[in-house]
Amino acid sequence: MCEHQADEGAKLVDVSKMDRRDLLRGLATGTLVLVAGCATYENPVTGRSQFIIVDDAQLAQASLSAWQQMRQQTPTWNNAAAQRRLEAVGGRIVQAAGRGNQSWEFVLFNGEEKNAFVLPGGQVGFYRGLYEICERDDWMATVLGHEVGHVTGRHAAERYSREVATQTALQVAGTQINSQLAMAALGLGAQVGVSLPFSREQEAEADIIGLRYMQSAGYDPKQSIPFWQAMQSGGGSRPPAFLSTHPDPDDRVQRLRNFINQQGWGPV
Ligand SMILES: [Zn+2]
Repeated sequence: MCEHQADEGAKLVDVSKMDRRDLLRGLATGTLVLVAGCATYENPVTGRSQFIIVDDAQLAQASLSAWQQMRQQTPTWNNAAAQRRLEAVGGRIVQAAGRGNQSWEFVLFNGEEKNAFVLPGGQVGFYRGLYEICERDDWMATVLGHEVGHVTGRHAAERYSREVATQTALQVAGTQINSQLAMAALGLGAQVGVSLPFSREQEAEADIIGLRYMQSAGYDPKQSIPFWQAMQSGGGSRPPAFLSTHPDPDDRVQRLRNFINQQGWGPV
């Protein structure tokens, strides 16, 4: 639903704080806003006005092909009990998110990685390595709340839109376009769905959205703290991929603590 006109979209640009790249991006934003008429989306989940110029149908289609490619390349972990558990926790989280009417797919991949990912079409990949440290359902709910939060937060659409805007800016500036980048933004590269990390802000936002979903689904948001601590301590000298896009795990735990206490769900 689009209620904002071009001048609304233009407010996203703060010229005073821009370096050259940002300036170009801002230029593209203006161009695209004029062309599209509307590029801002008031997302009730994030409470932010988001710059989005890709529609959900396009993203769903791209997700599907990325997912199919991923499924072909990565062996699944065939463990019926684990699959039931994943779907049970995932089902409660998507209900809590008010997204029970959308199609979701939860798949266990047979890999050591302590990692999980989500595609904007609702496909969730969960690696055996991560499953094996999830000793409580609350811990799985921490991960799944976060992943579902990326979807309801429309983070992939936002990421993709920024990339397209940047590409358009480069075109405007007469620089060669790299269409690979735009494709990568959708996660269509070899490392599907995880090739371009979400921004640090999006990761932090997904954490908080996830805590809300956990709480409404009847899981204990306080358990997100020991979960992330276990992820940290189990990481060895090299942090697992799931953590590597989150530069400071101590900050993360502190932010979660603050939110939980603010909500009156603590103290933690
Ligand atoms: Zn994330």
